[in-house]
Amino acid sequence: MTDQPIYFDNNSTTFPAPEAVEAALSAISEHWGNPSSTHSFGQKARHALERAREGVARMLNCTPAELVFNSGATEGNNTALYSALEALPDRKHIITTRVEHSSVLEVVRYLAESGYRVTELSVDRLGHIDLDELRNEISGDTALVSLMWANNETGVLNPVAAAGDIAKQFGALLHVDAAQAAGKLPIDLTEHAAIDYLTISGHKFHALKGCGALFVRRGAGCTALLRGGHHESGRRAGTENALGIVAMGAAARMVSAKLDEYAVHMRAMRDRLQTGLLNTIDDVVINGDQHERLPNTINAGFKYIDGEALLMMMDAEGISVSAGSACKSGSMEPSHVLLAMNVPLSAIHGSVRFCTSRYTTTDEVDTLVQKTAKIVKRLREMSPFGKDHKPAGLTAEQIAAHKAYFARASG
Ligand code: PMP
Repeated sequence: MTDQPIYFDNNSTTFPAPEAVEAALSAISEHWGNPSSTHSFGQKARHALERAREGVARMLNCTPAELVFNSGATEGNNTALYSALEALPDRKHIITTRVEHSSVLEVVRYLAESGYRVTELSVDRLGHIDLDELRNEISGDTALVSLMWANNETGVLNPVAAAGDIAKQFGALLHVDAAQAAGKLPIDLTEHAAIDYLTISGHKFHALKGCGALFVRRGAGCTALLRGGHHESGRRAGTENALGIVAMGAAARMVSAKLDEYAVHMRAMRDRLQTGLLNTIDDVVINGDQHERLPNTINAGFKYIDGEALLMMMDAEGISVSAGSACKSGSMEPSHVLLAMNVPLSAIHGSVRFCTSRYTTTDEVDTLVQKTAKIVKRLREMSPFGKDHKPAGLTAEQIAAHKAYFARASG
């Protein structure tokens, strides 16, 4: 049992690895020049930047020239979507899924208002898309298929290769949001020739926030969203975030060298946690497919309690987790991912995401299980509706208010 604060929110962001921090410090103290300057200070910085590019290219098995450094996956997703549409200007149809991150969904919904036709593929109870639905929807008018490799809330994986084959049959471009996959799954872009654009974000694999990379396959167009400079071969203007880039390069080299070991550890911690939760707490459901899933993610629904209350009590006990996606925390909007999966409302409201990392310890897992069990028990006892949500001794108005609250909260 540990008394230290414990962190199980690793799909939101990760602890910066000491190696990444050390690299960032060297960018401050040693090679702090402007990488675009031709003098020796600038060239030292340029050298560090290009070394980082090689590190990231090795992690993804692509060429360094196919990478554009940027501010993270939000920017990468925006750039990929606009680039694909500009590359195939005669096509006016976009296919994505209902469970994408908002940096894809909100952009395609905006594009739908300006004349594009957008199809959001549905998902089943386990969080999987249906490839037949993709086959039925795609046509010669489809410019782009955009889907995430792994879902940030449930960890459920998409059939990227099969979707890529279908996209190519129709000449459509394929964008993959790999923000959650990088650092947790092997990504080999020579094996995935159908992928034209792929986004990653440094802070999801133990580098720093505000820095990511967009893979643009050689020959695929890249539209600069930020213009006014020749940086990144004219694909993204602005003096490079050298600190973030060299940190990401260092983190990527570690992933290339040790991914198998990291994944085995994350999975062992994840499975110990899941078994512990299921063995000590009643009425817990695991949302999403438990097999086709990231090695580090559990989305657990604790029936008959409110996830926000659970989060607050866990925070008071020194445990950091998320309800659904982090940006939804603090609002009572239920997760669009769990809604799309038709998770029953009784489970959506008590849904919490637990994500391990390569730094998670068994002591932290066991502490988390014990504290969660205690808090869930207390919350269920406190509930005026009782464990079964069956109001005992309440007036009709109180029952109606309760139902209205949950109906409102579930959209
Ligand atoms: N896509 C996915 C799947 C994500 O999980 C996130 C981060 N929550 C993003 C995109 C956005 O990444 P960034 O924070 O680098 O903008």
